[in-house]
Amino acid sequence: MPDPSASVPAPPAPLTDQWPVLIERLAAARTAEDVFRIILQPTLDALQAIAGAVLLVDDSGEHLEVVATQGHAEGAQTLWQDGPLSGNVPAGAALARREALFFHDAQSLGQTYPELESRIGQALSVASAVLPMFEGDHPIGTLVLDFPEPHHFSIQEQQFLRTLGAQCAIALGRAWATQQLEAQVRQRTQQLEDRTLELQRSNAELEQFAYIASHDLQAPIRTVISFAGLLTRKYASQLDERGQLYLHHIAQSGEHMQRLVGDLLTFSRVNTDHSPKDAVATEEVFDTVVTRLAVDQVRGEGGTVSRGPLPVVCVDAQQLDQLFQNLISNGLKYHRPEEPAQVRVSAEQDGEWWRFAVKDNGIGIEPQYFERIFEIFQRLHDRETYEGTGIGLAVCKKIVERHGGRLWLESEPQQGTTFFFTLPNC
Ligand code: ADP
Repeated sequence: MPDPSASVPAPPAPLTDQWPVLIERLAAARTAEDVFRIILQPTLDALQAIAGAVLLVDDSGEHLEVVATQGHAEGAQTLWQDGPLSGNVPAGAALARREALFFHDAQSLGQTYPELESRIGQALSVASAVLPMFEGDHPIGTLVLDFPEPHHFSIQEQQFLRTLGAQCAIALGRAWATQQLEAQVRQRTQQLEDRTLELQRSNAELEQFAYIASHDLQAPIRTVISFAGLLTRKYASQLDERGQLYLHHIAQSGEHMQRLVGDLLTFSRVNTDHSPKDAVATEEVFDTVVTRLAVDQVRGEGGTVSRGPLPVVCVDAQQLDQLFQNLISNGLKYHRPEEPAQVRVSAEQDGEWWRFAVKDNGIGIEPQYFERIFEIFQRLHDRETYEGTGIGLAVCKKIVERHGGRLWLESEPQQGTTFFFTLPNC
């Protein structure tokens, strides 16, 4: 036996029951289409209306456009059409008067807008609610509901529908703002990505240029140095004192140029010319570097280099050698004349990273130069006081950043400097 209750439609839930769900769903709406979907069908169901539509004011502010419909038969000629925003049609009138309009039956609608029926070409056989939507003082459109037969709008229904129009306007405003914001974020992200790409490209170009220039300059510089050497050995005695001084300057400048070009070549190769990252015992690298440096600097000037226990890290061994070499040799070079250099290398574990410290007791650095010294060619002293090219720390920074780490310093003038850098654990 068929269940008689199956064919009986469920009675509409009381209007007040609809609010919490509707408001919650509207708050989550991200697009205007979400808002239409959330508003239209549930409202039709709640009020037993037959159809509904949303008309929005277009960009010109002079037209209304039907942007969503629910319940109208496909292609049906309805009361709600695109058209000029004027008080001669109910949707425009509700906006112009800034109030909801309720037409209880076709007669009341036909009397208010006599020309509508002839324009649409069919009887206005429905009751309608026309709800204006505003964003602040700005009219954004109307929400309309049609009923299949004369309909008395109770006070409670009228309140519900007015509030529905207002909530729909708020949700639309929020959805548009969100969409605008998302579009802006997308545009900014794209711009940032483009800029990063452009920077990477121009960096690569500069590196390539620096590489070619420094590489090609090596041969002529070698020639200048070797001929200056020949001149000194074979003909210096034939030159007067001034001539010998000139020759000495040529030889010295040639050697400085050779160091500059060599360092520039190293700088330009950090990102292109490297070995794979591997487990490297930093104590061994430290010993190699110190032995190499001991040949001239450490012994020559009475400096000492010591270390605490050092870890195994996951790096390019050759670049770690370069890093140690530059930082330790700087620690030895920039010592105070009255105090032999003492450089100590230590390391502490910090989660996934090892934080190294290269500490000296040298001349120190004023805080205002903490950033500048990492830029290529930036030096704080003339070459007569401290020989150098101003490239060593720029190379260190590139090496550390290539390994995903950070390089920074703490320093006190006339007390000493500590350079810190982080490298990944193995
Ligand atoms: P260079 O030593 O060839 O001049 P660097 O890039 O290694 O180039 O260093 C840049 C500048 O930073 C140096 O000219 C020097 O003024 C300063 N500096 C670097 N290391 C130290 C240090 N340990 N103590 C004091 N000053 C330093």
